[in-house]
Amino acid sequence: MLETGDMEFENRVVTPVRTGSDTDDIEFSLRPSTLNEYIGQEKVKENLRIFIEAAKKRGEPLDHVLLYGPPGLGKTTLSAIIAHEMGVNIRITSGPAIEKPGDLAALLTNLSDGDVLFIDEIHRLSRAIEEVLYPALEDFALDIIIGKGPSARSLRIDLPKFTLVGATTRSGQLTAPLRDRFGVMLRLELYTHEQLCDIIMRSSVILGIGCDKAGAMEMAGRSRGTPRIANRLLKRVRDFAEVMGDGRINKDIAKIALDRLEIDGLGLDSMDKRMLNMIIKGYNGGPVGLETLAAAIGEEAVTLEDVCEPYLMQLGFLSRTPRGRCVTGLAYKHLGYNIENDGGEPLQQIAFD
Ligand code: ADP
Repeated sequence: MLETGDMEFENRVVTPVRTGSDTDDIEFSLRPSTLNEYIGQEKVKENLRIFIEAAKKRGEPLDHVLLYGPPGLGKTTLSAIIAHEMGVNIRITSGPAIEKPGDLAALLTNLSDGDVLFIDEIHRLSRAIEEVLYPALEDFALDIIIGKGPSARSLRIDLPKFTLVGATTRSGQLTAPLRDRFGVMLRLELYTHEQLCDIIMRSSVILGIGCDKAGAMEMAGRSRGTPRIANRLLKRVRDFAEVMGDGRINKDIAKIALDRLEIDGLGLDSMDKRMLNMIIKGYNGGPVGLETLAAAIGEEAVTLEDVCEPYLMQLGFLSRTPRGRCVTGLAYKHLGYNIENDGGEPLQQIAFD
């Protein structure tokens, strides 16, 4: 549930990050609450089903779970599903929101046995907080120092046996000791067009929007593999359908609306194109280092890495090499370059349908 204050970034219809337009009540109403309702991520669901059933059979809380993958893929949703399937309560917080060790201590001591504590952006916890978390995760205990100087003494408080569900977009930034304390690590993948189409059809029923399959498929194809974007496109296209038609979304309305929103047939918008064009024109197709590239187009390196790159790499438009980022022949083609004349990288043979 990464949030951002960057205005241009916020205005991007295809940002996978939560923005001001994703009102809490609508996001909440669209959240599936059981594993059966949760579309896609089959491997993750299968594993979770087994771990949850085994924990329930033993009458124990679920082992600590780390969910990782790009923003908007359903990590927060999945954590609530875990709590629901285990029949326990969930407390939701995020790494940057826990400022002092006392904040974490207050959260932990207010949990009940079996509860789920969800920490979003867990890679942003400070070292001091992590130190408090280790004994809590391992021994369900909190070590508190009382007093200062020579009279200081340490007090150990027992905690309820809880499950930590951590979510991160960058598992590589987690410290090794924290990563080692998760018994279950699950990686969420970008969704296929068919899965996104199912998510859009489900959301349209919940929101009472008439939408046919072809219309949903048109939006799915431009959702960058991300349910949050799919739901956002559905809401924006509904506006066009209400003003330009009878309120029902079909393929033609979806196409007109998405073209007007300047989201191309593959879901690329101006930020992606600026990034690809800069590598092609400014760096002859690459390789170029991420920081250099980010400075050249005036974006944050993390934004490019978390938000643009996963999808561009899935499309086969961008490759990461030890020397930097390279644009592939597929991207040249999609952006309308004549590869022979533009002196770009040789056309890479990557299957793409
Ligand atoms: P993350 O925490 O990974 O950023 P969220 O859990 O907040 O993502 O999901 C964003 C939105 O996408 C939610 O409102 C939810 O409705 C929708 N969503 C995510 N995954 C699924 C899924 N598998 N099936 C249906 N809807 C989903």
